[in-house]
Amino acid sequence: MKIVNCYNCGAQKNSLYAEENGFSLVKCDVCGLLFVENRPDDSEISQAHKQGKHSGIQEFNMTGTFDGGKIPQYLHVLRDLFGGEGLCEGKTWLDIGCGHGEFMVAVQQYSSGKVLIKGTEPNVYKQKSAQKRGLNVTYFDLESHEEKYDVISMLNVYSHLPDPPNFLNSLKNLLKPDGELILETGDTADFPAKDHPRPFYLPDHLSFASEKIVIEILKRLNFEILTVNKYPFMQINLDRIAREVIKAILPRRKSRIRHYFKGIPHTDMFIRATLKT
Ligand SMILES: [Zn+2]
Repeated sequence: MKIVNCYNCGAQKNSLYAEENGFSLVKCDVCGLLFVENRPDDSEISQAHKQGKHSGIQEFNMTGTFDGGKIPQYLHVLRDLFGGEGLCEGKTWLDIGCGHGEFMVAVQQYSSGKVLIKGTEPNVYKQKSAQKRGLNVTYFDLESHEEKYDVISMLNVYSHLPDPPNFLNSLKNLLKPDGELILETGDTADFPAKDHPRPFYLPDHLSFASEKIVIEILKRLNFEILTVNKYPFMQINLDRIAREVIKAILPRRKSRIRHYFKGIPHTDMFIRATLKT
């Protein structure tokens, strides 16, 4: 275990925001970032991501399965992001933390197979699941990786990173001139603790930022923000809603249906950015 300061502003002062699974989520008194203060060592974190398992008081497995319900949502996002321009033939694309490959499938469909997309995924079970669908997915060390890409996407990766500014900085070497970054994460740091989506999945998630914080970080790293699009929490799909409805009618089952229908906040944020020349 180690104790860390705020990675955005470096402040040491923070206040307890919530506790879960034996970990404390604190809020930076200066910039408002939410982060796990007492966290596993970096080596444990990396091992945990390879295995898709994390230990706290309660051990949980984050591997899951391929969720086809995400594809139409991602196609919608891609139309919003690239609508007018489309994606030109031969663009090279790297999807970091591609999971089971749902976003990669959406990019292939959206570009009618014209984009050369590759994924990197540390979780071996997810890698295999994506490979079974014919997707080009392996796991490689980004720091020593020498290829450069037109687009790098990272969906649901930010909150897992021990040091996002450092990680984002290292991606600059992997972008071609005029290359673009597509970063998806939640815009939830400004929520009062009682309203924050739960569970937090600590310590699988190590921080929760806001639009303001992520934009500040990207600008400090010399990125220019092209667009910010926000959606209701992306993990909503009809299957899942149906499961929640069933839980809501069964006695003694906790349902999150309330969260799905009570004015779903647009907290799922896709930021498109390019390096300033
Ligand atoms: Zn801070």
